[in-house]
Amino acid sequence: MLGKRHSLDSLADENWDLIVIGGGITGAGVLLEAARRGHRVLLLEQTDFAWGTSSRSSKMVHGGLRYIAQGDIRLTRHSLLERERLIEELPGLVERATYLFPLRKGVFPGRLPMKAILWLYDFLAGIRDHRYLNREQLLERVPGLNSQSLTGAMSYTDALTDDCRLVVRVILEAARHGGLAQNYCRVEQTEPSGEGYAVTVTDRTTEQTATLRARRVISATGAWADRFSGSDPRVRPLRGSHLFVNPERLPVKDCLTVMHPDDGRPVFVFPWEGVTCVGTTDLDHPQDMDIEAAASGQEVDYLLRLINSQFPKVDLNRDDIYSTIAGVRPVIASGKGMDPSKERRDHAVWGENGIVTVSGGKLTTFRLIALDALLASGLIDSAAHKRGQKTTEPGFIPISDAPQAVDAFLHANQGDPVFIQWILDNEDVVHLDDLMLRRTRLGLLLPEAGKGLLDSLRQQIQSTLGWDDAYWEEERRRYLEIHQRYYGVPASPAQQAVG
Ligand SMILES: Cc1cc2nc3c(=O)[nH]c(=O)nc-3n(C[C@H](O)[C@H](O)[C@H](O)COP(=O)(O)OP(=O)(O)OC[C@H]3O[C@@H](n4cnc5c(N)ncnc54)[C@H](O)[C@@H]3O)c2cc1C
Repeated sequence: MLGKRHSLDSLADENWDLIVIGGGITGAGVLLEAARRGHRVLLLEQTDFAWGTSSRSSKMVHGGLRYIAQGDIRLTRHSLLERERLIEELPGLVERATYLFPLRKGVFPGRLPMKAILWLYDFLAGIRDHRYLNREQLLERVPGLNSQSLTGAMSYTDALTDDCRLVVRVILEAARHGGLAQNYCRVEQTEPSGEGYAVTVTDRTTEQTATLRARRVISATGAWADRFSGSDPRVRPLRGSHLFVNPERLPVKDCLTVMHPDDGRPVFVFPWEGVTCVGTTDLDHPQDMDIEAAASGQEVDYLLRLINSQFPKVDLNRDDIYSTIAGVRPVIASGKGMDPSKERRDHAVWGENGIVTVSGGKLTTFRLIALDALLASGLIDSAAHKRGQKTTEPGFIPISDAPQAVDAFLHANQGDPVFIQWILDNEDVVHLDDLMLRRTRLGLLLPEAGKGLLDSLRQQIQSTLGWDDAYWEEERRRYLEIHQRYYGVPASPAQQAVG
């Protein structure tokens, strides 16, 4: 990253200390922690940075109340300490937010168990930031919330981010320490060779293939991990989808956790980048992982049912949804065929044929996951691993020469030409969808895929990236098609049957 694409021939000239496969948050974290320690490290991403699960999360940098409720104190504590660290180191990009957990008569958990859980939650994070809101206070903060058997709510804090910008920020930081990352480079094969590995790569922008050399390889390929691990399959792919909703139709100020009327699952409704976000679902995803994940008509129906039961006067429908997004969670399977929502969300690191695979876990704990992978690969020893786990390790250096929006997720205007220019100059945009769906989220946040904005961005993009008119038209068509197929609003199965 930082605007310069390297030919595969030049990458093949080097004997890398480490090649990282996968440009999601886990790969980005490994790149940064290895580069920070002086290793020559290269990250290769088959599509775009954060194109996988890391652009499709619930955007929460959090301890996770569900983990504490499941008795997973270790995961909760680690996540909370990382949350606090990220809030401090990346102000603007990781921001504290108020969360509300409405309480209803006869529904578990009631006020006292929630109070105890939140006391422990805050204690583990080293803060004190929870309180009780009575029914009237809650309805004042969340007008329109179904008031039936509502008794009040517990209010507490966690944090929100833009997951894509977080990945990009971690890669930019790694680049400042000498790490190299290249998108649209698919690793086809890895095999032991001499003292290290031969890694066969195709650059998808040129279709050129080359073999690179590295002393170590870490596969941080998330839901694709079983392809490289060489071991028995361990990943259970679970799909989670979100809706991005017109904020005028469903305005919320805080992150609400509400229970789905069908199955009692908790679902978040929260304000994000000026729209209202609703999610997630949690379903097995047996589909081909080479095809981009997309929300199904049933999932949209399920999330609409949730909103219309929790906000009975809103009567939300498909016309109110700007876009959808679906991510595949790389859950390390228990193998017990349990309910998807009950599978543990911890990460795992394992190695076969000398290649270390890391998968599962959370956005929030990327730094700790990276350290575990580096320890397993032998690039750090256990003393360095232990030191790294301490939150006193040196952190992110502010980017002083970039517009503020590079380090902020609550952009007043993501279409700001200065911000767009920085991205075009520094953040390796290859396709229009990289810019509209990941570097910015304009394609998700605006009605009709942000079509109205494309004309005003056209000249700036064409002149910076050297695209002629025909190339622009091709990129525009490609972007709108991707949006419609994978980020659009699929019809209800009932409508599809009629159609
Ligand atoms: C619906 C949902 C909500 C979530 N919400 C939260 C949340 O709020 N907070 C939180 O902390 N966590 C959350 N998570 C979990 C978190 O998003 C994931 O744990 C995390 O993004 C996984 O990152 P990753 O880098 O391991 O995988 P990915 O982001 O999927 O990255 C793997 C990358 O590897 C690439 N790749 C695969 N094969 C190759 C190859 N052959 N060559 C090169 N590259 C390859 C892929 O293209 C992909 O980009 C959520 C997950 C889901 C699904």
